Amino acid sequence: MSVSTATPVSATPAADAAAPSGRAPLPVLGRDVTVPLVTGGEVTYAALDYAASAPALQRVWDDVAAYAPYYGSVHRGAGHLSQLSTELFENARRTVAGFLDCRDGDQVVFTRSTTDSLNLLATALPDDCRVFVFETEHHAALLPWGSPRAVGRGARVTLLDAPDSPERAVRTLEDALAARDPRHPALVCVTGASNVTGELWPVRELAAAAHAHGARIVLDAAQLAPHHAVSLRALDVDWVAFSGHKLYAPFGTGVLAGRADWLREAEPYLAGGGASRRVARREDGGVDVQWHDGAARHEAGSPNVIGAHAVASACEALTETGFDTLAAHEERLIRTVRDGLADVPEVRFLSLFGDDAPRVGVLSFVVDGWNGSHFAAALSAEYGIGVRDGLFCAHPLLRALLGGAPHHGGECGDPGTAPGGTSPHAVRVSFGAGT
Ligand code: PLP
Repeated sequence: MSVSTATPVSATPAADAAAPSGRAPLPVLGRDVTVPLVTGGEVTYAALDYAASAPALQRVWDDVAAYAPYYGSVHRGAGHLSQLSTELFENARRTVAGFLDCRDGDQVVFTRSTTDSLNLLATALPDDCRVFVFETEHHAALLPWGSPRAVGRGARVTLLDAPDSPERAVRTLEDALAARDPRHPALVCVTGASNVTGELWPVRELAAAAHAHGARIVLDAAQLAPHHAVSLRALDVDWVAFSGHKLYAPFGTGVLAGRADWLREAEPYLAGGGASRRVARREDGGVDVQWHDGAARHEAGSPNVIGAHAVASACEALTETGFDTLAAHEERLIRTVRDGLADVPEVRFLSLFGDDAPRVGVLSFVVDGWNGSHFAAALSAEYGIGVRDGLFCAHPLLRALLGGAPHHGGECGDPGTAPGGTSPHAVRVSFGAGT
């Protein structure tokens, strides 16, 4: 195999790659976008980067458009449109609570993204908390616990080795929790599905292990929620976080849902209007504040009502379509990609738990002799296929998967400038309900 923009890297035209078999279960925006090819002409763009940001569902777009002319301030106005917006925002919260099968007393806080949700939880850790995270996590789940606000409250992070099986993951966690000083509160943060390998993690078992050792657990469902039903009740996790833009809604909205106590006891994530119940000037010139107890405590400022509405619309669409239907569709797509690449010996798929491990529609691979960035660029330039390349905001995981240090030419997920044309930077193909 040679690296040349004139040499096609695959014989599969982009349009076929977008819908290899079976119809997409849900219509998405952007299916008709055409892009120019370096070889001349143009082709329908094949978006195979759902794990980064999935295209918005047509239905989500329609729901947002139907509401847009009527929006007004949330929680702040007596006017009809303000009341309508407030109702829509709170309905969205209820829809998300239903989507996540929340328990009585659980809170749904609207945030900006999964990153934001996990950072919020990191600011709500009790004093001297011990946080356990596998080194395989996305940086959004790896880094917040070491933030200055968390460390200032005594948080300490223990990184757990990359496991080679789901069973080993549970044993590794159990051993680490058993070895900790039980006087400290503890939190485990784990992904439901890897953004690199797509593999499903044994969330229920990890939650049971955490609870058996007196720890709590937060599920990073950024990659899981678009593909699988997530039930706080059934998985018995304490919190779950996900992002709207990976769940077929536009950018800018995320969710943190789960137990109210740590959130109620924490300082507001942002200080400002909406989070405060009562504000008074003190005799000494200072300010007395009484903060809200509920979700509003961490939602200071004017909320993103359109974003919340869009996320709720996506939750409804996915629920109505059914996760079994979505999973069966993705299973076909996974097979198509694997079969299509089976006769390319240079391709090596990345996995922790084995190639046949259950996964969502996310596959990463390296191509021996190829720089991953060049490979991805060639797919785009020659075929109009959009994939992701780089280290996927999971540098320690890539190091574990590739053995030794991957090139660090770029930042989080950035293809970077690896020299020599043979960087082990991986290529990621990901798809979903609109593929
Ligand atoms: N967790 C996982 C597993 C992810 O894949 C991502 C994004 O790719 C995140 C967290 C962060 O999501 P966001 O960028 O929407 O905050």
